[in-house]
Amino acid sequence: MSGKGMFQKAAIIGVGLIGSSLAHAMRAAGAAKTIVGFDLDPDVRRRAARCGAVDAVPESLDEAVRGAGLIVVSTPVGAMAGVLADVAAKADEGALVIDVGSVKGAVVEAAARLGARVAIVPCHPVAGTEQSGPEAGFATLFQHRWSIITPLAREDEAYRAAVEKAAALWRAVGSQVEIMDHQHHDLALAITSHLPHLIAFTLVGAADDLESVAEAEIVKYSAGGFRDFTRIAASDPVMWRDVFLGNKAAVLEVLGRFTEELALLQRAIRWGDAETLERVFRRGRELRRAIVAAGQEKDVPNFGRD
Ligand code: NAP
Repeated sequence: MSGKGMFQKAAIIGVGLIGSSLAHAMRAAGAAKTIVGFDLDPDVRRRAARCGAVDAVPESLDEAVRGAGLIVVSTPVGAMAGVLADVAAKADEGALVIDVGSVKGAVVEAAARLGARVAIVPCHPVAGTEQSGPEAGFATLFQHRWSIITPLAREDEAYRAAVEKAAALWRAVGSQVEIMDHQHHDLALAITSHLPHLIAFTLVGAADDLESVAEAEIVKYSAGGFRDFTRIAASDPVMWRDVFLGNKAAVLEVLGRFTEELALLQRAIRWGDAETLERVFRRGRELRRAIVAAGQEKDVPNFGRD
């Protein structure tokens, strides 16, 4: 979908993987004439300019958001309440403000307290890599991915139009868009994204603690499933700290179900219950096939690695 000329000026606050990817993608789609980036860290600002993610890197948030029709808040979730409050106070009246946080309840709650000077539309592009920083961004990150919008409880026409515009922006960078309430988002993502990361962090931590298996052996034999977990476990520690602090209730809910499933498998292994093991493992294979059939993954062995 064409997004040409949607905004004269867009400001990206937090120019890391997601912020710089959106900047690249918007430029490729011609969605904004000028894209500026603001990050607290001057070094990140310099790197964001050097790698061409943004056109300019003003030294203050005020300067970055002034005159911007679109402001993207792409900091870690823990910083968002503060940044949104600043943006809501300093941006031009009526500006569209979106965030890209992986958790939505905490963002929706913070945004709802800020009044209607700007239109804050909470979003979550379900796309990412284990990399971070401005250099990690690339224009095609959002293509063929879903972007979820969890609107605030505002019924006015201007807000409805802002939600439409946010959806159009995600479509312009190649995403499909789904609108849902933030509670549903946080529960769904707890199972599809947050729990897998927690398991990866736990597994890698457990391997590290296993003193009888040398680190060299872990590295040497990691061609199997372990290597795939290490990719997930390499994700940004600050981002994931904030995800678990911000989505406590939903993560604890799915973690409870997961430990019950784990106990079932533990019992099946102990008692030689082949039928249960096979039944559970078959479900895994079926789910993988459904993900491939939906075009969310390629049907090539070993994720297409050489
Ligand atoms: P990232 O690469 O670490 O980028 C975040 C940037 O925000 C960093 O440069 C950070 O600077 C900066 N920042 C922190 N506090 C700030 C503040 N108060 N004002 C301005 N800049 C600030 O992280 P990311 O992976 O792009 O994640 C950004 C957001 O996208 C998170 O909310 C995350 O939940 C969400 N998200 C991530 C993924 C993913 O796979 N990575 C996918 C979807 C959504 P410092 O490093 O100096 O603190």
